[in-house]
Amino acid sequence: MEGALIARDKVGIQDFVLLDPHTSESAFMDNLRKRYQEDLIYTYIGTLLVSVNPYKELDIYTEKQMKLYRGVNFFELPPHVYAIADNAYRVMCAECNNQFILISGESGAGKTEASKKILQYFAVTCPTTEQLQIVRDRLLLSNPVLEAFGNAKTLRNDNSSRFGKYMDIQFDFKGCAVGGHILSYLIEKSRVVHQNRGERNFHIFYQLLEGGDEELLKSLGLERNPRKYMYLIQGKCAKVSSVNDRNDWRIVCKAFSVIDFTEKDLENLYGIIASVLHLGNIRFEEDSNGHSIIRNGTQIKWISKLLGVHLSLLQEALTNRKIEARSEEVLTPLNTDLSGCARDAVAKAIYGRTFTWLVNKINTSLANKDPSRKTVIGLLDIYGFEVLSTNSFEQFCINYCNEKLQQLLIEMTLKAEQEEYEQEGIEWEPVPYFNNKIICELVEQKHKGIVSILDEECLRPGEATDLSFLEKLEEKVGDHAHFLTRKLADQKTRKSIDWVDFRLLHYAGEVTYCAVGFLEKNNDLLYRNLKEVLCNSKNSIIRECFLSVELDNRRRPETVATQFKNSLTSLIEILMSKEPSYVRCIKPNEDKEPGKFNEHLIKHQVKYLGLMEHLRVRRAGFAYRRKYEMFLQRYKSLCPETWPQWHGPAAEGVERLIKYIGYRPEDYKLGRTKIFIRFPRTLFATEDAFES
Ligand code: ATP
Ligand code: MG
Repeated sequence: MEGALIARDKVGIQDFVLLDPHTSESAFMDNLRKRYQEDLIYTYIGTLLVSVNPYKELDIYTEKQMKLYRGVNFFELPPHVYAIADNAYRVMCAECNNQFILISGESGAGKTEASKKILQYFAVTCPTTEQLQIVRDRLLLSNPVLEAFGNAKTLRNDNSSRFGKYMDIQFDFKGCAVGGHILSYLIEKSRVVHQNRGERNFHIFYQLLEGGDEELLKSLGLERNPRKYMYLIQGKCAKVSSVNDRNDWRIVCKAFSVIDFTEKDLENLYGIIASVLHLGNIRFEEDSNGHSIIRNGTQIKWISKLLGVHLSLLQEALTNRKIEARSEEVLTPLNTDLSGCARDAVAKAIYGRTFTWLVNKINTSLANKDPSRKTVIGLLDIYGFEVLSTNSFEQFCINYCNEKLQQLLIEMTLKAEQEEYEQEGIEWEPVPYFNNKIICELVEQKHKGIVSILDEECLRPGEATDLSFLEKLEEKVGDHAHFLTRKLADQKTRKSIDWVDFRLLHYAGEVTYCAVGFLEKNNDLLYRNLKEVLCNSKNSIIRECFLSVELDNRRRPETVATQFKNSLTSLIEILMSKEPSYVRCIKPNEDKEPGKFNEHLIKHQVKYLGLMEHLRVRRAGFAYRRKYEMFLQRYKSLCPETWPQWHGPAAEGVERLIKYIGYRPEDYKLGRTKIFIRFPRTLFATEDAFES
């Protein structure tokens, strides 16, 4: 029966829900593997899309394919990310509500690629007008710019997103894309000054050096060879075979012009990128008093020129710290180590804030000027769960973010769904699942969570250290089921001096974090005199990024972790108010190679993504539910008894209506306030009848 309406692929079954009702994990894996080997990378679990990274170009993303999926019911064509996009779009248009598509999976699983494909789908298939072409182009071209500045080669992914991105695409009542808005989350600034072996800095540096013409490089005082720059050589891999920096530079330049960057903006922006590279090459040496002085004046002169800042003040700020004592300002000379830290802090601050400036600039150019805007589809593509050989503050934030998204997914699917059946009085056998709320709380709980403990330590300058932070953790969360310190983990082998680790048992696996640098990264302070220099910059981007009000504000700024925590909380609120669709991406192997289906690795992801639980809930449950009133309102014209007006209770009207159009008893259940429909095809058939 199912086969009549549902297209089958050559191999495997395209919706896990249709597998044998007692599907074991191994049958699940078999189906996934069979399909992957045939390049069928997409499979549904009901309306959720599972995607396995093919690591090769497939010919399923052509314009012809896009048009094929346009307006076609979900299950009539093979599973595709276009079908998810189209479904969200159609529901948005039909019900005038806001949608979001959550794309999740670990680093390298294919989230960013999926989000780009969805955006392209909307750009190609949505109706548009000549006037709106520019919006379409800007939406598409915002990607290469943000990727150039926010993505980098890591060991796990040659184009890894090092920031989180949530993008609203705004549609008017005709379904035309009329604007967009981007929220960005915590860019990994530390990469600007340090990269692990085998990793690179952000793409933009290499693109500029490789693609910028001679004249431009000369005006910036740059040499073409990336190996000349300290900030680019630590990973020892300036070149990546899968990345074409020169070509990407051309695309980024084109994007700059479409997004409305002026000549002056670009001059300022290039000046900033170059200044960061020059900063990295500044070396300090000690004078006879042990105070640091700058070894060679060349770089600092370039920075002063490019950023339009006072040369001697910049020099002074990199080698001294200004302390205000009562109403007096005292300069304290720094040693060479502290000067190095100040230099790196400036580089990170400049880059991080310029990134925010870029996002704002793109937002201005995407801003919708048409007040008839109606609804949005949000696309969420955030850095994936990450376990490195050494995990630091950045991984802690990234993994906490993934923990929050998993929690959202659980709340909105497994938990909400099962609770709803109960509330509606639908008979239901509960499906057990692991709820990671307990881990989110371990991180974020007020006063008791790791972030609070870290913030408390940051409030004790001079006294607190990364080690005292660890001790506090041990004391306050030491007996939490998802927390382990080295001390507890292998008490026998522990040497007290080595004790700088703590471990979290995340939903996706165990991660050991090295606490070194946590306090400093969380504080993220820039010496006051450096800020002063930047506030007076003649480079207008820098001036916009470092406002002088900051100098007057005596209040301590929020710590990085707390800001991040708050921004995630508001993101979750934004998402909770919309109707969700899900794409869950799986990484098939660690080698970034096509055709390799690593059973062990994939099974682990299937497990922690909760796909089996999702399948169980989906299979036993109902794909669609609608309030009686809404259902009746939309479809009443299909039945003479309810048309043009039904005067009794809505539930009764719906009952008459579905009897009339021939729903079978196994297709639906009637709850207290809603009708529940088991398979999407039932609703699609009704929808088709309605439209014809
Ligand atoms: P991160 O969390 O590190 O940002 P990610 O999940 O965003 O990772 P992507 O950058 O989307 O990962 O994918 C990594 C690489 O895998 C891509 O650069 C591309 O080479 C390949 N890839 C992913 N999805 C596809 C696809 N659908 N078709 C072809 N190649 C793909
Ligand atoms: Mg990505």
